[in-house]
Amino acid sequence: MSGEHNELLDAVDELTRRVVLHQTVQESRFTCIVYDQSLLERLESEIRFSLSREGSKSLPNQRIPLNSGALGLFMRISSQVTDWAHGVKATVYKGDPARTLRAWYVTWTQTQREPGEVAGRVKLLHSWAASIRRELEPPRQKDLPDPCPSCGATEWWRDGERYPRPLVVESPRNPERNLIDESTANCRACDKRWGARELAYELETTINLDRSE
Ligand SMILES: [Zn+2]
Repeated sequence: MSGEHNELLDAVDELTRRVVLHQTVQESRFTCIVYDQSLLERLESEIRFSLSREGSKSLPNQRIPLNSGALGLFMRISSQVTDWAHGVKATVYKGDPARTLRAWYVTWTQTQREPGEVAGRVKLLHSWAASIRRELEPPRQKDLPDPCPSCGATEWWRDGERYPRPLVVESPRNPERNLIDESTANCRACDKRWGARELAYELETTINLDRSE
C-alpha cells in the first residue's frame, strides 16, 4: 500500500473510527476498553438530540432551533459517500455512511489511482472532519458593553426578564482560517446581525476575541 493510501486510510479513520477513551486491565486476564463514538456517529447523535429537543418543546417561545447545520452536513456527506460507493460498486449501507465509506475505501484502493485523485479525497475527508468538529462544539459567546449602533438599545428582554449588554459576538471554537473573519455579532434587542469586524468598525472599537478558555 502506498503512502497516499495510508493518508487516505487515516482520513477515513478520522471520520469512522471509535476513539479509545479508557483502558483498564483487570487481573491481567481481561482488558476492558471503553470506546467513544466516531465523528460521524457523534454528528448523528447531535441530530437525534436536536430533533428530540424540537419535539419536546413545552412553550412556543422556548423553541430551540433544530441543528440544521448538522443535518445538512450529515446529508451532504452521506450522499457523497453513497455516490462514491456506487461508482466503484461497493456495498452501500443505508443510513450508515461510516460503514459505506469504509466499504468504498476497500474497493476504491484496489485500483491504481492518480496521486492527485487520492490527495483530493484526503483533503475532502479532512474538511468533513473539521466541519463535524465545528458543528459539535458550540461557538463561544462574548457580550459587548456598547449600546447597539443600530437601535441604540442598552438592554434586552427574554421571557419577561431584562438583561444588560444586548450586543453579543459569537466565535467558532475551531476557526477554519481567521477567527475574526468567522465571528459574527448580533443585537438581542433589534436582531440586527454583523460580521465581528463590521461591528467593530461601526462601534469604532477593537473586539478582543479570546481563543483560550
Ligand atoms: Zn439593536
